[in-house]
Amino acid sequence: MVRKEILDALRKYTDPFRVTNGQDFRLNDFDPSDTLGLKMHKDEAVQLLRRGSEWLAMEQEILYAQDSWSVLLVFQAMDAAGKDGTIKHVMSRVNPQGCDVVSFKQPSVEDLSHDFLWRYATKVPQRGHIGIFNRSYYEEVPVVRVHQHLLDAQKIPPDLVRANIWTERLADITRFEDYLTRQGVVILKFYLNLSYEEQKKRFLDRLDKPDKNWKFSASDVRERRYWNDYMQAYDEAIRATASKAAPWFVVPADNKPFTRLIVAAAIVEAVEKLDLEYPKATSEQMKDLAAAREELNAQG
Ligand code: ATP
Ligand code: MG
Repeated sequence: MVRKEILDALRKYTDPFRVTNGQDFRLNDFDPSDTLGLKMHKDEAVQLLRRGSEWLAMEQEILYAQDSWSVLLVFQAMDAAGKDGTIKHVMSRVNPQGCDVVSFKQPSVEDLSHDFLWRYATKVPQRGHIGIFNRSYYEEVPVVRVHQHLLDAQKIPPDLVRANIWTERLADITRFEDYLTRQGVVILKFYLNLSYEEQKKRFLDRLDKPDKNWKFSASDVRERRYWNDYMQAYDEAIRATASKAAPWFVVPADNKPFTRLIVAAAIVEAVEKLDLEYPKATSEQMKDLAAAREELNAQG
């Protein structure tokens, strides 16, 4: 398939969920159980996802060989939305040498001694790599906003903790992303949009099935009490930070195979758009290659 056809085919899956301008964005307008009316059998989604992951693996090799662009995939979601499974499936074929996954948990003492973007900035993928932020600097708004004591722990001079701190933070994030994109970091942000009801089902499943017990954490259930606060914080965060250069994808997360398919399609589409090719040898390098061949043959 030629590039244009591939891009056209992918758009069907990505266009409905891409947010590049947050002005009129409302999280409520996005249905967590949407499957685009596709009555997709699990097998069919798995097949499509496999093709997408294979394609991505191929693209990643070229990205690596070029050593110029990098790709940063940001994953945000409520608990049990399927971040881990999505990352595992979508990246399953990619060469681990060119792919870095960083899971951001509660900040360390060292992290808290720095500005809020510090720990994330040190993990931005190097050129030629795909970096995955499993949670990210976006935690610095929803979770820290919902729990005031987390903000207190950040040791910011009190005079600078003003009423508009969240607006300021989102503006700082937007500028940080602008800066990175101008450096050749392609940023895609995924909010896995899980419904309140489906979260409950998945928590119950974790309680019911012994091999899923390890995934269960009582604190997840406590956090669920703040669901509406989180939704409002995400709504504002996406509205403030969606841009053409660093789009958000609000991916329906109630149906796992569909979630993975949309994420894979968005990544393949973004990398395809770069129109990458293996670096071509210069005439100088061609001469070196010919000389190396001659020497190799002469060595017997
Ligand atoms: P899973 O539950 O699937 O293993 P997870 O990403 O939820 O994945 P956990 O170890 O359960 O991982 O939780 C990490 C916790 O760290 C989350 O509750 C998240 O909100 C919190 N966290 C991440 N970044 C920050 C931050 N900057 N400040 C405060 N808390 C944070
Ligand atoms: Mg968790």
